[in-house]
Formats: sequence, structure tokens, C-alpha cells
Amino acid sequence: MVERTFVAIKPDGVQRSLVGEILKRFELAGLKIVGMKMQWLDKEFAEKHYTEDISKRRGEKVRNLLLDFIIEGPVLAIVFEGVNVIENVRKLVGDTEPRAAQPGTIRGDFCHVSYDYADKKEIAIKNIIHASANKEDAEYEIKLWFKDEDLHSYETVHEKHILN
Ligand code: ADP
Ligand code: MG
Repeated sequence: MVERTFVAIKPDGVQRSLVGEILKRFELAGLKIVGMKMQWLDKEFAEKHYTEDISKRRGEKVRNLLLDFIIEGPVLAIVFEGVNVIENVRKLVGDTEPRAAQPGTIRGDFCHVSYDYADKKEIAIKNIIHASANKEDAEYEIKLWFKDEDLHSYETVHEKHILN
């Protein structure tokens, strides 16, 4: 049941100095950081992260806007470990559309725009953070972003106080 997931604080989150606030939320939930780095993507790498699957689900235009947005500045890439961590991280992140994201979630607390607004302005939705959607995506994204030797196994106090 202990699993790993991939998170990236997008260029808007980094440039709005939200890194500390975001990491704090995951740490306080007892999730373990097992890998972390700052990376400024090029288009080729961005295309491997936001695959054709985005075009199928959201349309080619949205994918292109997203690809331009994600290379605007460095992102903070993180791998978290925890119980049902994929689902738990998505819960802390909140709904894709900031308008719909609940207060208390990262997207609900720090952004607010709608699909409608983004579509009219022809911009990508800047919703601060990416998190793997499911087990298959998590495995693919962790492999894409991190080498095995850059992911670390160690004990935190949560092993004693949260997990036992
Ligand atoms: P999530 O990031 O919640 O997993 P998706 O994988 O469906 O959501 O979409 C990837 C990203 O594309 C979203 O986080 C958001 O930044 C952007 N996006 C999705 N839909 C739209 C849209 N209609 N207009 C603009 N940007 C969008
Ligand atoms: Mg997604």
C-alpha cells in the first residue's frame, strides 16, 4: 500500500514563491520526500511529460498552450512516498479547474480562474502544481524525471508516529 507519486511545482508556483508553503502541506500530511530537484524543461522533455494523452483528453490546442507554459521557467520536481500517496496527493492538490477546487486544497487556496476564462483568453490554466493521476502515470513520470539512484530510502519520525 506504500507507493510513490510524482509532483511538479509548475513555473507559476515557483515564481510566486509558493514552494515552501506547498512542501509544508505534504510534509505535515506525513508524506516522505524521496527525491527532489529543480529543472528547466525544454520542449522535447515537456512533450514526454505531457504526452499525446493530453490532446486526446483536452484537445491539441490545450496541449500546445500547456507545453509553452511549462517551459516558461524552472519547475520543482518531487517524488513523494506514502500510503495511497497518489490519491492523497491529488486530494491535497485539488480539482484541475481552480474555480472548482475546494478551499484547503493547494489549487483552491492559491488560484481561482475557470476553464471558460482560460479558453477565452487562449491561455493554459496556471494551477500551480502537477501530480500523477494514477498508478500507471506515476510509474511513467517517476522513471522519466528521476534516475533510480536519485531516489532515497530512509526513515522519518512518521514511521513511528503516523504509520505505526
Ligand atoms: P491535472 O493537472 O489536474 O491532472 P489534466 O492532466 O487534465 O489535469 O491537464 C493537465 C493540465 O492542463 C492542467 O493541470 C491545466 O494546467 C491544463 N489544462 C487542462 N485543461 C485546460 C483547459 N481547458 N484550458 C487550459 N488549460 C487546461
Ligand atoms: Mg494530469
